[in-house]
Amino acid sequence: MNDQHGPDGYRFDTLAVRAGTERTPFGEHTEAMFLTSSFVHDSAEHAAAKFAGEAEGYIYSRFGNPTVRLFETRLAALEGAEQCRATASGMSAIMSVLMSLTKTGDHVVCSQGVFGTTIQLFSLFSRYDIQTSYVPLSDPGAWEAAIRPNTRMLFLETPSNPLTEVADLRAIVDVAKRHGIPLVVDNCFCTPALQRPLALGADIVVHSATKYLDGQGRVLGGAVLGNARYMNETLQPVLRYCGPTLSAFNAWMLAKGLETLSIRMRHHSESAMTVASWLEKQPGVRRVRYPWLESHPQHELARAQQSGGGAVLAFELAGETDAERRANAWRVVDGCRLLSITANLGDVKSTITHPASTTHGRMSPAARAEAGIGEGLLRVAVGLEDPADICADLARGLERP
Ligand SMILES: *Cc1c(COP(=O)(O)O)cnc(C)c1O
Repeated sequence: MNDQHGPDGYRFDTLAVRAGTERTPFGEHTEAMFLTSSFVHDSAEHAAAKFAGEAEGYIYSRFGNPTVRLFETRLAALEGAEQCRATASGMSAIMSVLMSLTKTGDHVVCSQGVFGTTIQLFSLFSRYDIQTSYVPLSDPGAWEAAIRPNTRMLFLETPSNPLTEVADLRAIVDVAKRHGIPLVVDNCFCTPALQRPLALGADIVVHSATKYLDGQGRVLGGAVLGNARYMNETLQPVLRYCGPTLSAFNAWMLAKGLETLSIRMRHHSESAMTVASWLEKQPGVRRVRYPWLESHPQHELARAQQSGGGAVLAFELAGETDAERRANAWRVVDGCRLLSITANLGDVKSTITHPASTTHGRMSPAARAEAGIGEGLLRVAVGLEDPADICADLARGLERP
């Protein structure tokens, strides 16, 4: 996937380092950061022309800033999108897309097991009578069946969190195209380094840039990618009038983060595979879920659709009862001295979380069981530490007390 050529004929890794760079007259080598809220005009006539959209140029950083443009241009090149718009966070990217595609009385179809706050966001919009139906990620027939005459958006995340279920993007694209409804893919887990949904026919990609695009846990950010017509006519008014704008400082951090995206994602994927393979051999571990493992039920689909497995894996501890499974899982968490106990991911630092008592703690036990999130399940987002140290950290809690 990484050998696809961008608009200038350059390959992925070259675009990650070079795309979007514009030099000022000072000749700086590293991209400049433009910390300014507004921009001045040459004359009254020039101001009038810019405001009328007849002359090029920046006016106000809520809807245009050169450093934000750098990040947008670079990410668009990597996703193979006509255009990108940056936002202040992943949630503001998803909110802006939702607001741009729907109005009161409309309907959304979304995959089960998306990021928890995304479900909260869609619930919030039910107050404007925008309703959401949830369907199994890997069942295209269920997507088809959930579509209503007022459905205006299909939304999914692949691989899913925490069980790494994979969507057959081509099959769901077929459903979307047949009904003329835009398919929106949250590409946070894979990033364009491992998966490019637009090339498979998706209409819009959203990102929490907070995660792997930055990759070092420093700043929040988000992005929306798609064709120029959608961006300019449908999304741009929402962004300009609601103002979920990315700061120039964060845009600079994120643009620099993209320069190392490919090597980071490759390394995350290799280390996660090492840790997942090791976990599969440990007594007391009932099963491991990681898309690159041959034991993953959608292993072949994942290999065809992604160029790496990504950083996130899940594994389940054995135990006779729920209480015993929880105790075994918590012992692994509490045995960690290296892995950070946090639900966050997308960092160079490995993290571990017990979904049933944290991210998915508010679900009813029945809903959790249906989603496959048992008391014995742990999720690890594998960082860039030495994988042998990560395994040794997990081993401590796996040993019998
Ligand atoms: C974190 C996350 C989001 C939300 O992003 P923020 O930058 O925290 O607002 C959305 N989708 C996924 C898959 C995420 O992991």
